Amino acid sequence: MSPIKKRLIIVGGGISGLSVLHYFKVLAPDLDVRLFEAASRLGGVIGSDIVDGYLCEWGPNGILDRHGAVREMCQQLGIEHEIELADENAKNRFILRDGKLQAVPMSLSSFISSKLLSASAKLRLLREPFTCSSNEEDESIHRFAERHFGKEVADYLVQPMVTGIYGGEAEQLSLKSCFPLLHKLDSESGSLVRGMIVRKFKAKKQQLKDSKRQGSMRLLSLKPSGVCALINALAKRYADLIQTNKKMQSLKRIDDADGNGQLFELYFDDQTIVQADKVILALPAFQAEKILRPFSAPLTAILGKIPYAPIAVVCFGYPLKASPRSLKGFGFLVPPKEKKSILGAIWQSSIFSGQAPDGKFLLRVLLGGAGAPELAALSDEQMIKTVSNEMRDIMGIIEEPEMVRIYRWNKAIPQYRLGHDTILRDIEDTLSEIPGLHLTGNAYQGIGVSECIINSERLVQKLINNSRTPCALP
Ligand SMILES: Cc1cc2nc3c(=O)[nH]c(=O)nc-3n(C[C@H](O)[C@H](O)[C@H](O)COP(=O)(O)OP(=O)(O)OC[C@H]3O[C@@H](n4cnc5c(N)ncnc54)[C@H](O)[C@@H]3O)c2cc1C
Repeated sequence: MSPIKKRLIIVGGGISGLSVLHYFKVLAPDLDVRLFEAASRLGGVIGSDIVDGYLCEWGPNGILDRHGAVREMCQQLGIEHEIELADENAKNRFILRDGKLQAVPMSLSSFISSKLLSASAKLRLLREPFTCSSNEEDESIHRFAERHFGKEVADYLVQPMVTGIYGGEAEQLSLKSCFPLLHKLDSESGSLVRGMIVRKFKAKKQQLKDSKRQGSMRLLSLKPSGVCALINALAKRYADLIQTNKKMQSLKRIDDADGNGQLFELYFDDQTIVQADKVILALPAFQAEKILRPFSAPLTAILGKIPYAPIAVVCFGYPLKASPRSLKGFGFLVPPKEKKSILGAIWQSSIFSGQAPDGKFLLRVLLGGAGAPELAALSDEQMIKTVSNEMRDIMGIIEEPEMVRIYRWNKAIPQYRLGHDTILRDIEDTLSEIPGLHLTGNAYQGIGVSECIINSERLVQKLINNSRTPCALP
């Protein structure tokens, strides 16, 4: 079959790949760009099902739009009116301590009376302003938290938060790579308290200069379809540039028959070959590694160093009367020290209205992670039993759920372990030897949906700005 020639190809139709396509169309509308996706649908780990009136999210259940890029993208796609911000009560979060749910204190008075931390841990917190910067090149999140706040806070507040976001272990994950802002504050000021005061002052000045995008620290979703409404809108807008059911298998470099340097040849599972000047792989690292194996041994060796943690998402629907406790809040996290199976539970229908039928509520429970991968692989029956037992012990729910949905992700979340920054540097160095090939996606510089969007935007901007030949990219 003779190859089809295209200018720029994006492989992978998760939020990262779709965002690359979007920003090319916004910033360089005349560019010949196409996106190929292996599955029959777009979105990757983002998907939503409506089951008996409950909105079950496969992956992300909300987006923290810290930079304002998500709202802007929704505006550009004409779905800004669908944005729903998390309920005010979602700021109330809980942590399991000694078998009981304790509120995370939000004020000085609640902090003093809180049973979440012992008196000595509270006193230890007062020493934070006197902390000095670390001299470790790459410090683990746990080590950082222990140094700033003491061991109890590291174990009971920071570790569960890290499991909630990364499904990871705080002793293994790199502060620098997972929480770059905290790392910056630590290196600049030593103490986070002192660092934040300085930053607040600077931010005020900066806001006056650059008020184009307004970020928010309130989680958002879209109504009525959930997070996948963003994917659906992107899919609709760019339908003629996207092909699904097209799995890329390998890549080759060839000389352009027209004598214009070199091209890439992309080989797909339907036996088609596509030629392109530039290729952007917006894939999980382990998928990019597979494709690149015969093409670049150094690159595959580096990509193979990014591990993934498995996660299972269990959605349970109940009548409101099944919960003896108030559901006003975000939900709770479970520190490993509590020796439970679940990582935490989100009170999903309390965060976003309309995600459960009237008179009902929706729980979203996470299991597995890097610390207990075997729990993400339990059978449906074992998983339902485990979660039901822990909902009874922790929340006092004795009724069986009336709706159950389970989503399993064998390789859910990339783990930015100690040394991740070296992996990124090595990838950059290796890619500099392969002009025209680029990688993006959640494996590199941020796992949140909004980080995936921002990183894709930055890549597009870089490609447009760096284009040496004025007509290589319009
Ligand atoms: C359980 C879970 C909960 C999460 N919760 C949140 C949350 O609440 N908030 C938040 O902000 N983030 C959350 N995240 C993280 C966030 O959803 C992801 O980091 C992000 O969606 C990843 O997008 P991506 O496009 O980089 O990758 P993916 O979504 O993995 O997309 C990659 C795409 O590439 C395709 N592909 C793979 N191989 C090939 C091939 N050979 N050829 C062509 N196509 C291929 C895949 O089919 C897929 O569509 C969560 C993630 C998970 C798993």
